[in-house]
Amino acid sequence: MITGKTKTVGILGYPVGHSLSPLMHNAAFNALELDYIYVPLPVEPDHLGQAVAGLKAMGVVGANVTIPHKVTIIPYLDELDRSAQLAGAVNTIVIRKGRCIGYNTDVQGFVQSLTAKNITIKGKNAVIMGAGGAARAVVCGLIEQGIDQIIIGTRNNLKAQEFVKLFPTGTHIQGCDWQKAMFIDAIRQCDIFINCTPLGMSTNNEVALPINWQDVKSNATVCDLIYNPPMTQFLTDAQSRGHMVINGASMLVEQGALAFELWTGETAPRNIMCEVLAKF
Ligand code: NAP
Repeated sequence: MITGKTKTVGILGYPVGHSLSPLMHNAAFNALELDYIYVPLPVEPDHLGQAVAGLKAMGVVGANVTIPHKVTIIPYLDELDRSAQLAGAVNTIVIRKGRCIGYNTDVQGFVQSLTAKNITIKGKNAVIMGAGGAARAVVCGLIEQGIDQIIIGTRNNLKAQEFVKLFPTGTHIQGCDWQKAMFIDAIRQCDIFINCTPLGMSTNNEVALPINWQDVKSNATVCDLIYNPPMTQFLTDAQSRGHMVINGASMLVEQGALAFELWTGETAPRNIMCEVLAKF
């Protein structure tokens, strides 16, 4: 029951109608009988600064931050935790004593989605499609776990080149246009192949990812950060060629659980969060 004491958290994004986070978090609050509510907060990019000021003014406890605000929200925050500083992107905010602090729980969420399936990261090669906020978190997680080499493929080579400059010199990370020979060479050698673009989301009817599956190393693990739908065309194609596939659901649960713990100080009921997602 919502009362005058109920604490509010939510999800800032645009659009947010596809998000399963409200279902997952409200189920978790109910399971632990915590007096919190999680609401969708659709905010157009031009209104992001006003929205952050509004959350502080209204005493909102915190929020998740999703596409397209993960990087652009940073100038509106008062402080960044180390996870967000390293990733250069924010997926969770906590508002304490009127100060808005940015965190990035996607980093550990992604790592956990691989380690839960016993995928080794140390010493391996990864190829990532996309160079947005989620890709930054994925790269941070892979580096932290000792990946050997990362190739970033994008539709726009300039964006790939800008992206790789975000990481310390000495990091084995290179960028390229995903239509070029360098990308084809990379997928021939990759152990972990990850889609970090929104291509394949249920809300996205645009072009498919440009993959020739004959070029992909036969025993590569194939991951898609998308969780809605659970099996994108990218994962369906990979599975039909015998690849192990991992969708974004386990990352969603872990990043959400870590955010829940930041807002409430309670251990998140991960099993409940998984169960509610499995129904969709
Ligand atoms: P973002 O910051 O907007 O970045 C999106 C990236 O995809 C950019 O590199 C962008 O390239 C590229 N892209 C977008 N539309 C494209 C198109 N039509 N053709 C080719 N490339 C395109 O988004 P994000 O926050 O990184 O999120 C990416 C995806 O990961 C989303 O589907 C999101 O839901 C998912 N995600 C899932 C989880 C989880 O917990 N499972 C967590 C985080 C994110 P340009 O710069 O050229 O536009």
